[in-house]
Amino acid sequence: MTRVRRYPRWCAVLALAAATAFGAEAPPIFDAHLHYNAAAAAAYPVPAALEVLRRNGVRAILATSVPNDGTRALLAAGSPDVRVIPFIRPYRTDADRATWFRDGEILALVEAELARGSYRGIGEFHVFGEDAASEVMGRIIDLAVARGLYLHAHCDELALERIFNRNAGARVIWAHTGFSTPPERIERWLDRFPALWGELSYRYDMTEDGHLKPEWRRLLLRHSDRFVIGSDTWINERWERYGEIMAWYRGWLAELPADVARAIAWTNAEGLFSRVP
Ligand SMILES: [Zn+2]
Repeated sequence: MTRVRRYPRWCAVLALAAATAFGAEAPPIFDAHLHYNAAAAAAYPVPAALEVLRRNGVRAILATSVPNDGTRALLAAGSPDVRVIPFIRPYRTDADRATWFRDGEILALVEAELARGSYRGIGEFHVFGEDAASEVMGRIIDLAVARGLYLHAHCDELALERIFNRNAGARVIWAHTGFSTPPERIERWLDRFPALWGELSYRYDMTEDGHLKPEWRRLLLRHSDRFVIGSDTWINERWERYGEIMAWYRGWLAELPADVARAIAWTNAEGLFSRVP
C-alpha cells in the first residue's frame, strides 16, 4: 500500500533543524499525554498543531481528544515526521469525566471507536478510589487486555490497585504518575506492577529552582525504563505554553545521563508502541 506524503521533504528538514537547535545531544520527544480537543482544533487546525510539535522537537504523540474526531484528524494527516498513536477518550463531553466508569453507553462508545481500528489504548480517563472497581470499568479493563490496549489512567493509588486487581494483564500509563504521589510510593508501585509506566506532566514538584530534586533523580535513575513525558494540553492555554512545557522537560532531562534522558524523552514511549498487539 502506498502512503501519500502530504508534506514536502523540506518540512522534515526544517523539523530536524528545529530539533538540533536544542543541542546536538538533545533527544527527540515523544509527547505521551497530548489532548487535541474541539477548542484546540478550532484554534490550531491540524497543520498548525503539527507545526507546534515539530517546532519543539516532538516526533511522536499519544493523542486523545473530546470528541475523538480530533485524534482521528491528527492521524489522518499522515504526517511523515510526527507519529500519531491514537487513544480512545471514553467521554462524549467533559461532563462524562465524573460518571463514565458506571455508564454502559461509554462501553458502547469504546467498542464503536475500536471498530474503526488503529487505536492503541483507552484514556486518558479519570477514576478515583473504589470507582475503579465498577462493573463498566472492569469490562473496559478486560476489553483493553483482550485487545492488547494500554490504559492511560489519571487515578489515585487505590484506583491503580483496583485496575490491576481486576485484571493482572492490564498495562497502565499512569497520567501524572499519581499527580502528587511521593517518589518513595511511586517506587513501590513500579516494583509491584511491571506493566506500569509513569507519565510526568504537571509533576512540577520534581524540580526546585529548575533542578531535579535528589529523591526524583534517584527514582528516575533506578527506573529509567519506566517513565515517559507529556504536555497534557487539556486546555488551549497549554497549547499556547507548549514551548515552555517542553523547555521545562529539557531542562531537567539535561541533568541526567544522556542515555537516561533519551529513554525518558523518547525510547520508553516509542518502545511501548513499536510492536503491534
Ligand atoms: Zn490530560
